[in-house]
Amino acid sequence: MRYANPTRGNDTRKPFGFKRNLLPIPADYYAAQGLKLTGGGEWKNAVCQFHKDTNPSLRVRLDTGGFRCMVCGAHGGDVLAYHRLITGLPFIRAAKDLGAWEEQP
Ligand SMILES: [Zn+2]
Repeated sequence: MRYANPTRGNDTRKPFGFKRNLLPIPADYYAAQGLKLTGGGEWKNAVCQFHKDTNPSLRVRLDTGGFRCMVCGAHGGDVLAYHRLITGLPFIRAAKDLGAWEEQP
């Protein structure tokens, strides 16, 4: 089978678009969002910003940026997913907002 775009699915060869390696480091991003991360281990705890939370219900991973709320169910796999959820921005706008989108030269 032949594809119209031979670089499809191969991020490293795309001249422009979403660049995952340009996403902010999860610890920096979540700190900038005002999350106070507590606890040891892979999953840190934070007060959830997606519902009226009093006890920290949000679990956040600092290696991947993944997050999941044990109360309201908000979840995603990286800081881009978090940014889209908190801002309501579509994928490309959110990626640009985070500096992880390279324009066509
Ligand atoms: Zn929540």
